[in-house]
Amino acid sequence: MSFQISINKTKQSRINEFNPEKIEFGKLFTDHMVVCDYKDGKWGNPEIVPFGDIPIPPGLSALHYGQSIFEGLKVFKSQNNDAVVFRAEQNAARFNKSAHRMAMPEFPEDLFVQCVHALVDIDRAWISSADGASLYIRPFMFATDWTLGIKVSETYKFMMYGCPAGLYYSHPVKVYIDRYHVRSVRGGVGAAKCAGNYAASLYPAKVAKERGFDQNLWIDAVELKYLEETGTSNVFLRKGNTIYTPALSDSILAGITRDSVIHLLKDMGYEVIEGSISIDDLIQWHTEGSLDEMFVTGTAVSVANIQLVGIDDKIYKLDLTKELVAEKVKTELNNIRTLKSPDKYGWTKIVQPNQSAQF
Ligand SMILES: *Cc1c(COP(=O)(O)O)cnc(C)c1O
Repeated sequence: MSFQISINKTKQSRINEFNPEKIEFGKLFTDHMVVCDYKDGKWGNPEIVPFGDIPIPPGLSALHYGQSIFEGLKVFKSQNNDAVVFRAEQNAARFNKSAHRMAMPEFPEDLFVQCVHALVDIDRAWISSADGASLYIRPFMFATDWTLGIKVSETYKFMMYGCPAGLYYSHPVKVYIDRYHVRSVRGGVGAAKCAGNYAASLYPAKVAKERGFDQNLWIDAVELKYLEETGTSNVFLRKGNTIYTPALSDSILAGITRDSVIHLLKDMGYEVIEGSISIDDLIQWHTEGSLDEMFVTGTAVSVANIQLVGIDDKIYKLDLTKELVAEKVKTELNNIRTLKSPDKYGWTKIVQPNQSAQF
C-alpha cells in the first residue's frame, strides 16, 4: 500500500517565539503536526497541518478507557547544520508492539519514519544546535470511537508533533524505592508505552517528590524485590568493569537508549549483565563499597547519574566525585547523535530537504 503525505503549511510561523537559549521543555511546539485517521479497517493519508487544537467529542473512547499509546524520539543538529534523526525505526517498531498489546491497529513502520522526516524537514528551524539541545518528537495514537461500551475501538487518530528540548536534568537524580506501589504487573501493559502506565504512577511519584526525590525506582510486582526501571528511564548499576541492568520482561519498557548504551558500554570494554538485581543486592553492594555508580537512560534524560537512593527510611548515597562511566557513555552517545563521532552502528539518518516531494 502506498501513502501520500500532504502538506498544508502555516501562514503564520511562530518561530520568533523560540529562544534557543531558554528552552522550557513541553511549553512550546513547532509550527506543524502530522494527523492521520484510521477507519473502515485502514489508514488514510497522513497530513501535515498547522499545529493546533483538535476537537474532542465527550464520548471519545480514549478518554474513558485509555486506549492510547505514544512514542518519544529526538532529532539533533549536526555541526554541518543537518537534522539528524536517531533510531526512528526502533520507535516505529516499538509503537506497533504497544499497538498490538492495546488491541490497536499497527501503523506502517516506514510511513512512521517518513512522517518524522517530513515533519522535521518542514520545522527544521526549530532545532537548536546548543549543547544538549534537540527537537523532541511525540508520535501518538488514540481510540476515537464515540461509545460508552467498553470494546476495541474501530477508529483511531495517529498524530505527531515536535517540541524543542534542552538538557533535561540539570542535576544527578534522586530516586526512591517504594516497597508498596508498583508500576506494572506480570502479564500487564508495562512493556507498552501506553497512556495508563503513566497515570498509575503519578500518585506514588507525587509522594516521592514530597519526600524530596525526583523519581521512583520501581520494583517488580510479583516478589516486590527486584529493580525494574524508573517509569521514564531504564536503570544501570556499575561494579568496577561490570555493569548490571534489569533484564527485559513484560513489566519493563525496552528503552532504545538502554539498548544503545548497552552497545556503547560493550564497545568501551565493559561487561554488561542483563539479569535480576534485588534491593538486597543494591544495599549489600553499597554497604561493602563495591557499588561504584548508578545511572538511568532514556530519550528525555539521555544518561544521568543517580546521586542517591532512598530505601525505607535510609538514604544510600553514590560517590559522584570519581570518574563516572555514565558521563563517558553520555558523551559518546551525544557525539553519535550529533555526528561528531562516526556512527558505525547505523543509528542516525540525515533528514533530506523537500521530503514531501518524494512521497
Ligand atoms: C520511554 C520509556 C523509557 C525509555 O525509553 P527510551 O526509548 O530510551 O526513551 C523507559 N521506561 C518507560 C516506562 C518509558 O515509557
